[in-house]
Order: sequence, then C-alpha cells, then structure tokens
Amino acid sequence: MHSAAAIAPSANTFLAGACILFFVLGFYQILSGKYWGKVKSILPAELEQKRIEIAVRHNQLVGVLLLAFFGALFSCVTLLRHGPRFSMVLAMVLLLCAEFYAIRRLFKYDEQMCEQWGFMCPHCHKPLYQPRSFINLNGRCPKCQKSILTDAIRSSV
Ligand SMILES: [Zn+2]
Repeated sequence: MHSAAAIAPSANTFLAGACILFFVLGFYQILSGKYWGKVKSILPAELEQKRIEIAVRHNQLVGVLLLAFFGALFSCVTLLRHGPRFSMVLAMVLLLCAEFYAIRRLFKYDEQMCEQWGFMCPHCHKPLYQPRSFINLNGRCPKCQKSILTDAIRSSV
C-alpha cells in the first residue's frame, strides 16, 4: 500500500506530461494545416480554397479525436486505478480500437468531403485530398501522380 502510494504521483506526472505532449502535437496539426495554407500554392484559387477547407476540417477533427482519446484515457486511468489490472488493460485495448476506428472514419470523411466539393482527380477520379500530401506544391494527384493543373486551368478558362 505504501509503495503504491509512492509510485502513484510519478505515474500521474508522467501521464500528465504525455498528455500535454500529445495536446501540443494535436494543436501543431491544426496550426500546420493553416501554415500549409499560407505557403504559396501553385493550384488555381478555386482548388486551393477547397484544399484548405478540407485540410482545416480534417485538422479540427484530428484535434477533437485527440482530445476525446486522451480525455477517455485519463478518465479510465482515474476510474480504474484501484481496480484489477486486466480491467485497465481491457479499457486501453478498447480505447485503441475505438481510436483506430475513428481514424478510419476520418479518412472516409475526407473522401466524402472531396466528393462533395468536387476535389477529385480528373484522371483517376480519386479524392485529391491527403493529409501531408504536397498537391499544392507540385500540382500532382497523390494517387496516380498525374498533373491536375493543365485540366483544372483548361476547365476554368
Ligand atoms: Zn489521379
């Protein structure tokens, strides 16, 4: 009992530190979405607008996901601290599964946003948005690597 009480504060400090680190990373994601929006893009304004809107929505959702995940993680640790160890492990595994599912849903949602706003490749008809793709710098489809620029410019003229 005594040793458990001595370990608890350092474990909590570690968890709090890990949470702060991940929050910073989460907000860095949101900020970097805006940062990439400021980089001189070679895409036509209309496409660039769509790209930024999807990127900002994506980054906001990632931020919400991270908040929810670490909120849930923290509540689990607090609630199950005195329970049997397997219940903690089970909660962690469930949380990780939920997080993976949420991330899969997020990528599906990215594709839905692309379809909704017509941010699609004119060659392979796949969604053009990918987190961390450089479409605004090279104007190439992240899937088939063909340039989308000539077609986009031709259709807008
Ligand atoms: Zn393509």
